[in-house]
Amino acid sequence: MILPVYVYGNPVLREVAKDIQPDYPHLKELIADMYETMYASDGVGLAAPQIGLSIRIFVIDAVGMAEDYPEAKDFKKVFINPHITNEEGEEWYYNEGCLSVPFIREDVSRKSTIIIQYMVEEFKPHTDVYDGIKARIVQHEYDHLEGILFIDKISLIRKRMIKARLNNILTGNVKPKYKVVFAKKK
Ligand code: ZN
Repeated sequence: MILPVYVYGNPVLREVAKDIQPDYPHLKELIADMYETMYASDGVGLAAPQIGLSIRIFVIDAVGMAEDYPEAKDFKKVFINPHITNEEGEEWYYNEGCLSVPFIREDVSRKSTIIIQYMVEEFKPHTDVYDGIKARIVQHEYDHLEGILFIDKISLIRKRMIKARLNNILTGNVKPKYKVVFAKKK
């Protein structure tokens, strides 16, 4: 089932999401719905707060980026209860966008390498090291679980420059191609 995406201004995007237990109701369906919602909106990743749930899950499928980043080809994965334990390496800029911040893209600087602990569907624990574009995608999705959006990480000048466009999202004056939940009704 395709779910509507919560956009900028919804308080759920600002909460620190909670770990879930293996008996979380309808977890399989939830994960399937998250993939479906992500594909329907041409996203590379989707975190649970973006569908209104303050729980620690995100899904990623970066196959669409494989032309520019061959290493992204097979990067399809669900992360349950993820916790980044280390971030290091040189910072680099990448032009990020977000389904919850439609029509805005900004260069964001992040460290190059992360270590992340998480579980997959069967609640088996994993620890992975990612760098480059994979780390970048995970860092962006992970931020959603911490109540952080990529626009929090840009310069004051850039923030000022996108203020009017953010306000359009707040007031519901944008029309993405996918279904969204606005913070305020028009
Ligand atoms: Zn996002």
